[in-house]
Amino acid sequence: MEKLLKRPEAGREVALVTGSTSGIGAAIARRLVDEGLFVILHSRESAEKGAAFAAELGFAAYIQADLSCENARGSLITEAIAITGRLDVLINNAGISGLISHDDLPAASPDIWRSLYEVNVIAPFQLIALSEKYLRESAKKNGRACVINISSHAGVRPKGGSIPYAATKAALNHVTRLLARSLGPEIRVNAVAPGLVDTPLTADWTEAQALWQAQSPMKRAARPEDIAQAVMMLLNADYITGEILLSDGGLNLT
Ligand code: NAD
Repeated sequence: MEKLLKRPEAGREVALVTGSTSGIGAAIARRLVDEGLFVILHSRESAEKGAAFAAELGFAAYIQADLSCENARGSLITEAIAITGRLDVLINNAGISGLISHDDLPAASPDIWRSLYEVNVIAPFQLIALSEKYLRESAKKNGRACVINISSHAGVRPKGGSIPYAATKAALNHVTRLLARSLGPEIRVNAVAPGLVDTPLTADWTEAQALWQAQSPMKRAARPEDIAQAVMMLLNADYITGEILLSDGGLNLT
């Protein structure tokens, strides 16, 4: 685990955004800094890239951790608190996917199921559990005390890169609703469920690109900044909890 040590000044809210050196997470981190928060950046790989992005954003520090490893999740929260002393917002964005045809059942092996569940469901749940104490402290100080899980429209509609991926995102949506009940009123828990977003993950998903351009009311895939905007809406909506905000340019209507 590596980190860039830079501390927020007193009074500035702190957000941890997992998987935030590229794609959607990077756009969320950038937006949160623009809105005045200090951001703990995180990724599994490329600590150098993380440190450079933290330097670019200014009000940010970077921690590297492999979330498929249970111990690394604990260290991530401990290291984050050691740097910032507080946590007001947790964005569970890190996730893995991959394309497996839905009719190729043998290809969706138990190993693939297990690795997707570990990173896409168990890790976000455990990070919320480890953050609960700090989020409750945030609530006491009138901080935002918010969790946002980045799930997927594949967890709402019978679609997605693979059946195991879609199932993990459906599980994350349900965890979102269950935890909204368990952690309210102090802590709000919501999810943003993107459709196709232009990121490194989807760079070669040409069929999906064509589908969004032809069929969705918005006639395009989302930009990462569109998803950051949806996250910001939920962070600012004091009375909304347990919601899954579908952000797919309206494709679900077709
Ligand atoms: P990306 O590949 O650009 O970024 C994924 C991030 O997750 C990276 O920072 C990576 O380091 C991190 N990550 C992956 N496995 C990890 C692990 N084991 N430990 C720690 N970090 C790990 O992907 P993206 O497209 O920006 O996706 C971000 C989230 O949005 C994911 O949860 C993804 O499922 C979801 N999503 C993406 C799309 C899309 O079209 N891009 C659509 C719906 C949902």
